[in-house]
Amino acid sequence: MKILIADKISTSGIEYLKNQPEFEVLEAFGSKPKETIKQVKDAAAIIVRSETKITAEIIAAAPQLTVIGRAGVGVDNIDVEAATQRGIIVMNTPAGNTLATAELTFTHMLCSARSVAQANASMSEGKWERQTYAGSELSKKVFGVIGMGRIGSEVAKRAQAFSMRVLAYDPYLTPERAVALEVEQVDLDSLLHQADFISIHVPLTDDTRHIIDAKAFEKMKTGVRIINCARGGLIHEKDLIDALKSGKVAAAGLDVFVEEPLSDASELRNIPNLVLTPHLGASTEEAQESIGLEVAQAITEVLRGGSISNAVNMPSVDARTLKILRPYLVLGEKLGTILQQISPPQIEKLIITYWGNIMDLDAMPLTRGIQRGYLLKISGENVNDVNAPLIMKRLGIEVEIIKSNSESGYTELIRIEAISAEGEKYNIEGTLIGTRQQPRIVHVNNRDVEALPEGKLLLLENKDVPGIVGVLGTILGKDDVNIANMSLSRNDVGGVALTILQLDSIPSQRALDEVKEADAILNMNLVEF
Ligand code: NAD
Repeated sequence: MKILIADKISTSGIEYLKNQPEFEVLEAFGSKPKETIKQVKDAAAIIVRSETKITAEIIAAAPQLTVIGRAGVGVDNIDVEAATQRGIIVMNTPAGNTLATAELTFTHMLCSARSVAQANASMSEGKWERQTYAGSELSKKVFGVIGMGRIGSEVAKRAQAFSMRVLAYDPYLTPERAVALEVEQVDLDSLLHQADFISIHVPLTDDTRHIIDAKAFEKMKTGVRIINCARGGLIHEKDLIDALKSGKVAAAGLDVFVEEPLSDASELRNIPNLVLTPHLGASTEEAQESIGLEVAQAITEVLRGGSISNAVNMPSVDARTLKILRPYLVLGEKLGTILQQISPPQIEKLIITYWGNIMDLDAMPLTRGIQRGYLLKISGENVNDVNAPLIMKRLGIEVEIIKSNSESGYTELIRIEAISAEGEKYNIEGTLIGTRQQPRIVHVNNRDVEALPEGKLLLLENKDVPGIVGVLGTILGKDDVNIANMSLSRNDVGGVALTILQLDSIPSQRALDEVKEADAILNMNLVEF
């Protein structure tokens, strides 16, 4: 079997491949697309970094291709869709750069405390400024970590070694894991209020974009130091510049930017108490070595028919099954996304129940799609059908599947129930309607509804009193938000009703606050897809 190494990976990775007698290794770094097309003719595997583009044309020219390995994380240079259609596995190496990024974060923390970069620049100019660069110590300070995943946890360990008190904000971190990591689990506001140093380690999602903005800076201590080695866009860059200029933030370090490469005219380049690095998180010899070896080992494991780790796609199910499953996949993913947004951040169990045709199908792709939908707001672009079950496990969520032949009242039905540690239950059910198999939400938290899982949904629990529709219409109308659809449901007259509004646009925070505070409203959730 031939393995084409299209971009240069680490020596240990190449050596590892060459030492496996059953594989023929072709090193062809920096080939032109036309040459790559010839090289892949009999290739069983291709390894790339970010340079070589694996297009649909190249995939079509490789009839024996089983797996494409990306030494690194982003797979923008690979046509994953075309690979998936052919059943070709696309893998990446997300864990290889954890320590490198954790260490760069810590470097930025120390630099922000001791002005190392600025002092060095001043020495280069022939100066000797001992007063200007008096610093601050990490020991005994409060360190706030936003996002306690792979990198956040490693940074926290290092902070503990420096005798810092570590606070963690991560709504998906289980109390057991927080205890194991010896961190204090807090909400975001109390982290912002107490921390002397703050570092962010979350994916960029709708929930985390601008998680640090002017409002967040207001809540922080004056003289706070802040680091972002995760993704550009998590900190509002203009608000950071203002906070650094005013002295609210004493110093900051950034490795990532909204626009990369950072424009040479960017104001960020000229802020004296800000240290920048050009997205160097993963750029260490060791990370590149470990990524090269990781991709080589993972590829050979797949070619030998062994386990598949870190695939970003799933080999496609056969075309006939996929055709039948497709409408269920759309429905399932959306139900998962909605349920996650109407249940508490920490749940212990997800029970997925299938009725109807799905009983006779291989529901595995659907079960994975539901979990991916559930994780969309938690893990952002990092979640896919393959790693969704692993991420659920890491979050401490048990997933149970039931195929039921009991009477459901519908030809097809998917029910997902989330159960919190306290035993509270949240559920959603959906079905497919008509010959076009349109997805519909038919139950939410045990109440009958009929709503399309599309656009922006405002889910309200309200007292069943007259005038509620008028109140909502007035508030949203004033905000220029159009209501596309409305579903009202109640269990008892005068009891608690569930109202679902499908909106054409997202209401302003002011309008949402007004709805939330309206007399009869008991609970409100805005759901986005
Ligand atoms: P991870 O998936 O292991 O951890 C992310 C954590 O964020 C999870 O624990 C999750 O529960 C938490 N989270 C999700 N939404 C949240 C929210 N709204 N509030 C608080 N916490 C939330 O990811 P990782 O490997 O630790 O990577 C962290 C970040 O670092 C990612 O953005 C990744 O892209 C970035 N990264 C940057 C570089 C670099 O070169 N600078 C290298 C690697 C990774």
